[in-house]
Amino acid sequence: MVHDALTQCLECDLLQRMPPLGPGSILRCVRCGALLRRHRPASLDRTLALTLAGLILFVAANGFPFLALEMRGQVQATNLASGVFDLYREGMWGLAGAVLFTSILAPGLQLFLLLLVLVPLWRGRLPAGFGRLFRQVKTLAPWGMMDVFMLGILVSTVKLADLAEIIPGAGLYAFALLILVLAAAQASLDPDIVWSRIPLPPRRPPQPGEPTLVCHCCELISPWNLPPDARDRRRCPRCGAILHHRKPRSLQRATALLVAATILYLPANLLPIMQTTSLGQVQSDTILSGAIYLLQSGMWPLALVVFVASIFVPLLKILILALLLASIRWGWNWRRRDRTRLYRILELVGRWSMVDIFVVTILVALVQLGNIANVVAQPGAAFFAAVVVLTLLAARSFDPRLIWDGRQERDHGARPRT
Ligand SMILES: [Zn+2]
Ligand SMILES: [Zn+2]
Repeated sequence: MVHDALTQCLECDLLQRMPPLGPGSILRCVRCGALLRRHRPASLDRTLALTLAGLILFVAANGFPFLALEMRGQVQATNLASGVFDLYREGMWGLAGAVLFTSILAPGLQLFLLLLVLVPLWRGRLPAGFGRLFRQVKTLAPWGMMDVFMLGILVSTVKLADLAEIIPGAGLYAFALLILVLAAAQASLDPDIVWSRIPLPPRRPPQPGEPTLVCHCCELISPWNLPPDARDRRRCPRCGAILHHRKPRSLQRATALLVAATILYLPANLLPIMQTTSLGQVQSDTILSGAIYLLQSGMWPLALVVFVASIFVPLLKILILALLLASIRWGWNWRRRDRTRLYRILELVGRWSMVDIFVVTILVALVQLGNIANVVAQPGAAFFAAVVVLTLLAARSFDPRLIWDGRQERDHGARPRT
């Protein structure tokens, strides 16, 4: 079939011919440099084995004791979800929900859905709704933040080092292994192999020179033969995602989310994110004062990590998004490839800002020793989590193909390039 040898870039919309992939090879878009395909050996078998291992580790990480804190003979033991319950009890349910989703639900669901997809595939069967199930695996992937949570554990442990002794439990070791296994599973999974197993109803392949539409999820290319008013309401025949030429109202949505994030950035940084009571002394910490504390304790590498992740990255995200949105709003033509690169940076670094939220969650769970020592989350943390989530959503609503649209008109008719 003609359309099997073609691929359409999700970042610049260019239709191009795909040479066969050799072992270990990588295919990049000729125009914007986006990663199009990567060869992954024994993809299905490896991913299935890693997914099974991941599920066992997931149960262990949640079931076994996670971290314990010992101070003046008192021991406070926690498991992975303890912080979420404590935040919820303190009335910070939005924050609790964000932490629960990113550190437990999203990775767990992702593993479970992968198993539901891979086991039937391995047995040579395709259950009903297979494409839709696999689509959810892709949707959930960016929201799993166990690696960021692990960094949060490291920062919390250093913060508590002078105060108390931290005892790692079996759950923590399982969690650390789970991060590696999940990363390996994601790296070995070749979505194209999974998608290619789904039989498609007979359809007309796009003709040379005909404008085409690519599914943002499974990357199936369809001819763009619909009347303009129906273009945004058609579903992909393979994965069920709604097909659209550009993400709907991309500029308006991204701008609204960005404005909201920028407004909340102020209380997120000015208000305290947590309050520590230690032997009668009460201390409130903002994001910045937390980083300064680490610096004063001589932990400058960690202070740098916290400063970059919590202060520099959110600001950088806001500035990059504002620049990209302005460049499209006013139709700037310069440096399309570099602006696409900026967009990729945005996608890559966004999640690491959650680290301080996880630090608060872990400290709230661990430090609950009544009058001796106690940590309570403060409103700044909720504002900060909202900034991170809003900027992540803004980046996701932004359509990088808009950067290339000025050119698109000139070479539309999408000639395949090699
Ligand atoms: Zn491209
Ligand atoms: Zn699709």
